[in-house]
Amino acid sequence: MKLSLVKPSVIAFLMAACFAAESLAADTAAKLTGDQALQRLVAGNQRFVNDRLEHPNQSIQRRLEIARGQEPFAIILGCTDSRVPPEIIFDLGLGDLFVVRVAGNIVEKAGLGSIEYAVEHLHAPLIVVLGHKQCGAVAVAVSGGHAAGAVAHIIKAIRPAVKESRSLPGDKLANTVRANVARMVKKLREARSLKPSVQADKLKIVGGHYDWDTGRVELLPEK
Ligand SMILES: [Zn+2]
Repeated sequence: MKLSLVKPSVIAFLMAACFAAESLAADTAAKLTGDQALQRLVAGNQRFVNDRLEHPNQSIQRRLEIARGQEPFAIILGCTDSRVPPEIIFDLGLGDLFVVRVAGNIVEKAGLGSIEYAVEHLHAPLIVVLGHKQCGAVAVAVSGGHAAGAVAHIIKAIRPAVKESRSLPGDKLANTVRANVARMVKKLREARSLKPSVQADKLKIVGGHYDWDTGRVELLPEK
């Protein structure tokens, strides 16, 4: 069945079924502002850093409560690295975060589409682009090494950040990880689908950097 032959209403239904019902989303997620959502993330990361985990929203009751609809309060665009799982480093649980993970936390089409869905239909007020210490994907781009297959697509997306941070003093990899996050934040802010929400102050987009030695997520300065 060609997608072009399917009625828009059917597509909408399929989208809703795919991402789960969303009727609860508008009521609750919309209550938090981007700043409040960010505060919640910072507080969760603080618990993680201090080894005071609360493991919220991981009970059977929570699972059943959100079965009817999701209401994530933040979107995380993070790296696939197994040592950077958003729900754990922000001490959160089921239905809290809408997570897109791709190596090097790059913005690409499928990820952007997922983010658009969460902004438009789930009304998540915050996006955090989360880079991390010694990111392997960024390291390959910095080394200028050749990548085969689809990995080349990821490295190509990171390469402009290598160029941008070339003249900066200090550690090349650390600088590029940060420059890459900043570029992706900018890319999201300028995405045609997200720009109106950003301009209307309904959507906040920030960059973060996770250090696995300290456990801390540092918020990167807004440019
Ligand atoms: Zn990484």
